[in-house]
Amino acid sequence: MKIDVVGSLCTWNLDLSTSFIINDEMIFDTPQGSFKTLMNKYDLTKIKYIIISHFHSDHFMDIHLVIDYITHHSQIEKIKIIAPKGCRERLVSLFRIIEISYLEEKLKDKFEIIEIENNKILKFDGYKIKCFKMLHLNLDSYGFIIEKDNSVVGFSGDTAMCNNVRKIISKSQAIFIDSANLEVNNKHLSIGEVEALAKEFKNCKFYAVHLSPYSVEAIKNTSLYHPIQGEVVII
Ligand SMILES: [Zn+2]
Repeated sequence: MKIDVVGSLCTWNLDLSTSFIINDEMIFDTPQGSFKTLMNKYDLTKIKYIIISHFHSDHFMDIHLVIDYITHHSQIEKIKIIAPKGCRERLVSLFRIIEISYLEEKLKDKFEIIEIENNKILKFDGYKIKCFKMLHLNLDSYGFIIEKDNSVVGFSGDTAMCNNVRKIISKSQAIFIDSANLEVNNKHLSIGEVEALAKEFKNCKFYAVHLSPYSVEAIKNTSLYHPIQGEVVII
């Protein structure tokens, strides 16, 4: 599996928030400010799937620009948007707020929205995607195991420590894991927690992402690996 690291940080850094392009055809999260890079550096006409882990702005907020671009440039008939419940309603509200209501019809014509829930398994075009509800405040936030051609890769999305983090890691060859915090809380994993998981699950390769200005400094004193914006990871 080819994973382009579009961004690997969180909102409060200069560089982009965490998102990925998988096998040139699947966008994982569309953070605010990511569209300029997505459009100029990658070929969005190849995109067939858009995964949204949750609706926080640093995971979702440029999606209208991606939808608009794809609507005007892509020849692909139906693009799947895989997202938590209520995605269509949120998109329609967003289109109205920023006065691009013309996209409502395009959303119906060119996009298929697939709503996710805990333990849901999606299978299409050789992909198997398992969805896991994560602990991110009280939000409907998801992590995933994405499987294709014998590669099994985990994506924690935003999460604090929970059973599903361990489930994802235990079944994955590699994980892109939220490492935003220094302190333990119910919103993000801490660097210390991720270090302990990496020691416990030695068969899984760890890629620490969603780093904050604090954890980006703290990670230098650990053995954890942090992929930078623009890096390409092959699993
Ligand atoms: Zn979040």
